[in-house]
Amino acid sequence: MYKQITTALLGICTYGAVMAQSTTPNTIIDGWDVLMKKCEQKNPNFRADLYEQNKQIEQKADAYMQTNTANKTTAVKEVPIVFHIVLNQSQINQLGGTSGIAERIQSQIDVLNKDFNAANTDSFLIPTAFKPLYGNMGIKFSLAHKAPDGSYSPGYEIITTTKSGFDIQSGTAGTGYYCSDAKFTSSGGADAWDTKKYINVWILSITPMGVGGVGTPPPYPAYGGTSMFPWNEQGIAISYMAFGKRTNGSQFFPLQAAIAGRTLVHEMGHFFNLFHPFGMSTMDNKTCTDDDGVTDTPLESAPTQSICPSFPLLDTCSKTFPGVMYMNHMDYSADTCRTMFSKGQAARVNVELASGGYRDQLGSDPGLIYWWSSSIENVAANNEVSVYPNPATNACTINCNDVVAKRIDIINNLGQVVHTIIPAANETILHADLGNLAKGVYIIKCTFAETTTTTKLMHY
Ligand SMILES: [Zn+2]
Repeated sequence: MYKQITTALLGICTYGAVMAQSTTPNTIIDGWDVLMKKCEQKNPNFRADLYEQNKQIEQKADAYMQTNTANKTTAVKEVPIVFHIVLNQSQINQLGGTSGIAERIQSQIDVLNKDFNAANTDSFLIPTAFKPLYGNMGIKFSLAHKAPDGSYSPGYEIITTTKSGFDIQSGTAGTGYYCSDAKFTSSGGADAWDTKKYINVWILSITPMGVGGVGTPPPYPAYGGTSMFPWNEQGIAISYMAFGKRTNGSQFFPLQAAIAGRTLVHEMGHFFNLFHPFGMSTMDNKTCTDDDGVTDTPLESAPTQSICPSFPLLDTCSKTFPGVMYMNHMDYSADTCRTMFSKGQAARVNVELASGGYRDQLGSDPGLIYWWSSSIENVAANNEVSVYPNPATNACTINCNDVVAKRIDIINNLGQVVHTIIPAANETILHADLGNLAKGVYIIKCTFAETTTTTKLMHY
């Protein structure tokens, strides 16, 4: 569930042979085993329950694929994401201060949106044999501009801590696992925003050094449910060293295998209940019995660690062409080598986002993304004018209830009139084209002969 990124092979290039001798890919430890051991302690039937759980999700995912055969054909779901930056001043400075952090966040959002929408520009690297399996999750990640208290937020907060780092498995707050100390204000971190409605990402220094990140899976009973993964800890912790996309290898050390912002892509996969293609629990799937519960990802005997192999890569579980899907985001290849989710994975994620899934409330409130001021917040619907649909995507109808207005103004949250409609004689039901307006919240102000009414319109 968390991912240890090796500097080993990259060390050969960067630091020379001494580094290469001291670490090899075979010595890398992955936190998945730590997680599974913890789950097994909580639940003696863990393995059996997990297989049963996976079987059920796989059935749902297969059913989803039956109705979405071309690729992703349903509407893109837009979900709010908030970054809690919990770093000490020295670490903040290493990221370039507040402006550097803002840039890094934007690059991270861009990477997520490309990789989750089959829009990554390096998709040409996907081998022809796997290209038909290139999956489109259909998820748009947008910075959350409405904080839980209703105030405006840039979509991130910077908490300057005195701590040098947060341990992956020895916290004092919450479960004590997965950097839980960073997830609570009381222990020097930042409290989560409603984890059913926002995707919370904590950016921090993770100890031990070398861990790229850790994403909580949904609290399925098989994992120990909310005792292992309580709702107020749901989200993803990412090392500040593996955060965002960097174009210059020396821009930040030392997790250079994680230079393209894809640590969060991988951990986001876990957050939506994706497994590693080499199986559920082990780093060494010798018997090829471990599977990820996804129909179209080939079995894999062991992770591909922080390197970029040549295609095809055959192993004991996938002995024939095209071999293993080492370029999958849920494998451990270097960032620059991971270029695809599969269609089966996309289906599985969309099962979680659909009604009844563990992530089904994400995106249910577009107001969390498109903030409006409290003055607009307090505008109530009135009986004289109705606006529908509301929220509206491209256009809406304004019904003035048989009274002809002198004019109708659409006003943005800065108070600026962005569109005016002058009704014709006897025209009481009007059409407003919203196509050219920025997404957000607007006021529909109707001026009648003797009165004025205002109604709030959400456009997204
Ligand atoms: Zn992982």
